[in-house]
Amino acid sequence: MVNTAPLPGRFAFYPVLAYFLGALLFAGCGKPADASKSQATATTNSVPPAPEAAGPGPREKVCFACKGEGTVPCPVPGCVDGKVDCPAPCIKLNKGVWVKIPGRAPGELMQAIMVNGKEVWVSSHHPGVTYTERPSGDGWDMHTCPVCNGTGKVKCSVCKGTGKVTCPICNGKKFIPVAWTPTDNPWFNSQPDLIRLADGQVILGRVAASLGDDRTIITRDKKILHVKASDILPKAETNSPAAPTPPAK
Ligand SMILES: [Zn+2]
Ligand SMILES: [Zn+2]
Ligand SMILES: [Zn+2]
Repeated sequence: MVNTAPLPGRFAFYPVLAYFLGALLFAGCGKPADASKSQATATTNSVPPAPEAAGPGPREKVCFACKGEGTVPCPVPGCVDGKVDCPAPCIKLNKGVWVKIPGRAPGELMQAIMVNGKEVWVSSHHPGVTYTERPSGDGWDMHTCPVCNGTGKVKCSVCKGTGKVTCPICNGKKFIPVAWTPTDNPWFNSQPDLIRLADGQVILGRVAASLGDDRTIITRDKKILHVKASDILPKAETNSPAAPTPPAK
């Protein structure tokens, strides 16, 4: 009689324990393909998923670049949520110089553009349109831009409108060898403008000027650095041996 009271509690505990044992066993032999299945189970049992343990194979880890998503934000400048500015010369509120003109509607801005070599003042109230001169020459006709349908934006061709591209580090595989680091992995090491310095610093940029032993480097993000020529490692030594990708087939 004394032992009956704790039993319901214990029974209730068993399924949770079984799940954890299952998860631990799984962690040893996990493959990326099975990871989603494991995480789905975790969600239905409201146990937090453990992506670090659930996915990578032996000597692998979750990709640091995409956090195991397999995709990264589209790198195309100006791509927002998969959309870029319309390449046609339609009126865009973020292009050109908009000015306030006395007598126009409150909040309306105007801009002078050139059409057929003539100046046309256009209104901020009509983005996404193009202008043509009337054959009679007495004015301008406004047309909805056929390229962007008046929206001023078109689908980004690089990410196909998704705003995301395959992660260049893991190639979409989500997991990478444990030895790979942000500055030592096959993608990084293959960058043509990679410069490694003797002190271990790594730079993506180009040598823009030389003066004696001084080298002026302009980095990809437009920073200017000065280093000694003797501190720049020869190109042949710059690609340190990051563990190669295991053969796919
Ligand atoms: Zn357009
Ligand atoms: Zn894009
Ligand atoms: Zn990745």
